[in-house]
Amino acid sequence: MSVQTPTAPDAASAPREQFASDNCAGICPEVMRAFERANGTGHEPGYGDDGWTQHVCDRMRDLFETDCEVFFVFNGTAANSLALASLCQSYHSVICHTLSHIETDECGGPEFFSNGSKLLLADGADGKLTPDAIAARVTARTDIHYPKPKVVSLTQSTEVGTVYSVEELRAIAAIAKRHDLRVHMDGARFANAVAALDVHPSEITWRAGIDVLCFGGTKNGLPVGEAVVFFKKELAEDFAYRVKQAGQLCSKMRFISAPWLGLLDDDVWLKNARHANAMALRLRQRIAAIPGVEVLFPPQANAVFARLPRPAVDAMHKLGWTFYTFIAAGGCRLMCAWDTTEAAVDRFADDLADVCSKSAAE
Ligand SMILES: *Cc1c(COP(=O)(O)O)cnc(C)c1O
Repeated sequence: MSVQTPTAPDAASAPREQFASDNCAGICPEVMRAFERANGTGHEPGYGDDGWTQHVCDRMRDLFETDCEVFFVFNGTAANSLALASLCQSYHSVICHTLSHIETDECGGPEFFSNGSKLLLADGADGKLTPDAIAARVTARTDIHYPKPKVVSLTQSTEVGTVYSVEELRAIAAIAKRHDLRVHMDGARFANAVAALDVHPSEITWRAGIDVLCFGGTKNGLPVGEAVVFFKKELAEDFAYRVKQAGQLCSKMRFISAPWLGLLDDDVWLKNARHANAMALRLRQRIAAIPGVEVLFPPQANAVFARLPRPAVDAMHKLGWTFYTFIAAGGCRLMCAWDTTEAAVDRFADDLADVCSKSAAE
């Protein structure tokens, strides 16, 4: 891995804020308080039969303005894998982008939990699938020898920090409907997309034709946990059993569910996402002006991708900055989080300007 880890969390020489991932950030204070409140009600039933979990599920239904089914799991790989498994038979296939997390970063989880449903890769600019690419994938083969396409999986916001517009989502859902495909959304950074588009969350989910959303909480400020939201209730049949079998049913469920109240109350989830998005924009503006730096994708959410001179990458790592260099076509990925400060963005940009001018002089 090309991400460098400081030798100890308090290593004095390493900058404390990092751009490696939004999961480097801690727990946001509102969530911490919600966690403590959930601990203050003494004994509660386990496995989701508690009042907190019921309440958070109702809050999700309020948020999306529809009678959806809501489940909580520990992480995004499980959310995606189990959601896809519930949409597919083993002989089905899932159309997804070449850069999608389910393809590149889940260790075959979706295939494993679906007992073999195949991922069919399609391309598209800026990490986004297009109706044409999906149609081409569906119609390429219709014979018995090929795994039958059953699902389109989209990532919103995408793995390269871009965002599907409402119109793009509707066009994809229309193609999916025409070919009898279900639509899954990997929303590990759903909040960042809602904040970027400034739309009601229903507008980019069920009102646009999305059947299942994996709603990410971890990168938005939770300690752990993602919600799987089924907008078509019949697709959630027996999902609770899948969750349990996969080892994803938390026995002290209230500590996975109740922290969501810290995000949902007062729209903290959107406040956190707007902040992360704004920091990415600031970072982009600061580094795009540096000679030798090439910003790769339009930063619409909380990520900035940039090609940096190799000596500059090494020099930044030596200065203690951590970020990934193997994600997305040779570029460096810089992620902003709910707690990224302007000062850290500016220090990073100043350091980068410095090392780039040195590497140009050599
Ligand atoms: C982080 C992330 C996930 C979830 O990953 P886990 O490590 O399994 O929690 C899923 N999809 C995308 C696009 C992500 O960035």
